[in-house]
Amino acid sequence: MVNALQAIRGMNDILPAQSSVWQFAEDTIRAVLESYGFREIRMPIVEKTELFKRSIGEVTDIVEKEMYTFDDRNGDNLSLRPEGTAGCARACIQHSLTNKQVQRLWYTGPMFRHERPQKGRYRQFYQVGVEVFGLEGPDVDAELLMLTARLWKRLGLEQLSLQVNSLGTSEARDRYRGELVVYLKTVFDQLDADSQRRLETNPLRILDSKNLQVQALLEEAPKLADFIDEDSQAHFETLCALLDAAGLDYDINPHLVRGLDYYGRTVFEWVTDQLGAQGTVCAGGRYDVLMEYLGGRATPAVGFALGLERIIALLENQGARVPDASPHLYIVTVGEQAQRQGLLLSERLRDALPKLRIVTHCGGGSFKSQFKKADRSGARYALVLGEDEVQRREIGIKPLRERKDQETVSYDALDGRLAQLFDW
Ligand code: ATP
Ligand code: MG
Repeated sequence: MVNALQAIRGMNDILPAQSSVWQFAEDTIRAVLESYGFREIRMPIVEKTELFKRSIGEVTDIVEKEMYTFDDRNGDNLSLRPEGTAGCARACIQHSLTNKQVQRLWYTGPMFRHERPQKGRYRQFYQVGVEVFGLEGPDVDAELLMLTARLWKRLGLEQLSLQVNSLGTSEARDRYRGELVVYLKTVFDQLDADSQRRLETNPLRILDSKNLQVQALLEEAPKLADFIDEDSQAHFETLCALLDAAGLDYDINPHLVRGLDYYGRTVFEWVTDQLGAQGTVCAGGRYDVLMEYLGGRATPAVGFALGLERIIALLENQGARVPDASPHLYIVTVGEQAQRQGLLLSERLRDALPKLRIVTHCGGGSFKSQFKKADRSGARYALVLGEDEVQRREIGIKPLRERKDQETVSYDALDGRLAQLFDW
């Protein structure tokens, strides 16, 4: 025997036992997005590497060390998408979706980053991304946050908290960056290696450091809030007032910056303490400059991405009630005629009651062995057809989840009786 191959580290199979909770999350998210007028867009998984360099930024973690990049057979340099905003913006420009019109878009699918795999952090992971193009906010920023709050409620998730901050304009950040670097140089020896490196490449990211000693040093650092321009300040104050009016709780976190270069003004994260170190389930903000970076016309934009694996982990932790995906019926047939009749009857049932999930036994075997399979399938009823039943044009309905006797009904009465039993 040859040895069996394994999936790539950090890339997971989602097995049938888990797919119900995934589908519950995806269906719920989609329904909420539709209720706010968002439309789905689907982009390719592979894009030119240049797209991510220009949008995410050359000196970010993602572009520096996390992308799956390769030359294809034509010699084009391509990357598996590490996130969806860049591709979404590219598609909007390419297809003129944002010329003089607002777009409210969402997408979902796998993203790829070569990170160290650990709980809540994988190399292939799923995001739902939401982007609004053509609105300056802060009304739409507030609406997006209300949308996310509604999502958690519909999913039945608790104990998520919202952090918000404003990054101001890029001029404000440039002035702040200068002052921050001056300060951090005075404490250079006390910084960890990662922060020392970032001081050269991307100093604002140091604010985001998880290192406690670095966090302590930042207490004394100049504050971004003191450098924010007046317009951004007013934008942020209105956003906070709208959130207050909506009764949405939030904390202003002055150290909240995002890892990507394209963000400005509003940034936010939804975090939980229930997932260990990987506690951010949803993150986003405003990226008014991105469309121009990508060669489009200036278009204000705001969006967020949520990490589905982390949402699923929370749903599982919090014991969410997920709709049952087991079959309703398992059709047991013994004998050649019964087998044929079983296939035909189940087709007829699917016509009559399209909600039914029916497994028709295939492969023969005794009643006993088929009932075992029926039981294991999780079905609520077995429908039983032997040669006798076929002769009489009848079928047995045997409850599998409650102590009740089997009943027998005629073929013609079957649809009606099932509709009664399932209360449809
Ligand atoms: P982090 O600081 O945790 O690395 P990030 O800033 O890189 O996060 P974003 O690029 O903003 O994350 O992605 C949005 C969301 O996608 C995150 O909040 C998280 O829920 C999820 N996510 C990001 N990277 C991963 C990953 N490697 N595995 C699983 N989920 C991820
Ligand atoms: Mg990251």
